[in-house]
Amino acid sequence: MPAILLHTCCAPCASHAVEELRRMGYRVTLCFANANLAPAEEYERRLTAARQLAEHVGAPLLVDPPDHAAWLTAMQGVEQAAEGGDRCGRCFRYSLERVHALAAAQGFEAFTTSLTISPHKRSAVILAIGRELDPIRFLAVDFKKQHGFQRSTELAKSYQLYRQNYCGCEFSHRT
Ligand code: SF4
Repeated sequence: MPAILLHTCCAPCASHAVEELRRMGYRVTLCFANANLAPAEEYERRLTAARQLAEHVGAPLLVDPPDHAAWLTAMQGVEQAAEGGDRCGRCFRYSLERVHALAAAQGFEAFTTSLTISPHKRSAVILAIGRELDPIRFLAVDFKKQHGFQRSTELAKSYQLYRQNYCGCEFSHRT
């Protein structure tokens, strides 16, 4: 059974992705690589939810130590871009580079991301970045297909997972 590292952008989104990847025959390890998250309390809330998901589904969880200052540096010049635009493209790339490096270093046959499940995110942009990083290892799955998002909301509810009301960075934070 091939091993896959699943970038877990948040626990609710990854809940359906785990189910789908297992159906496809993969052995799934969750990977929380989300330096984009702010403030720190929100990072902790989402990491706690990822740990809860890992327990519910019986999957290991790798945590990539977050460096939000480095993430902010990578976003220089596009901070005020509209959500879904250049800043988000760079943000996807930042996280996927981290997950790709971990997957390669730890011998995973494949990696992918739960980001594509969000109706607010353009899957084509995310999948193109993954393929560009590693056309062999990247598994291009559009998790929002076949009612994936709806399924993730059902699973998150049954697992009682925290669900946030903004994407993740300070530029998307609605108060
Ligand atoms: S809005 Fe979301 S995807 Fe876009 S830069 Fe912020 S955290 Fe990343």
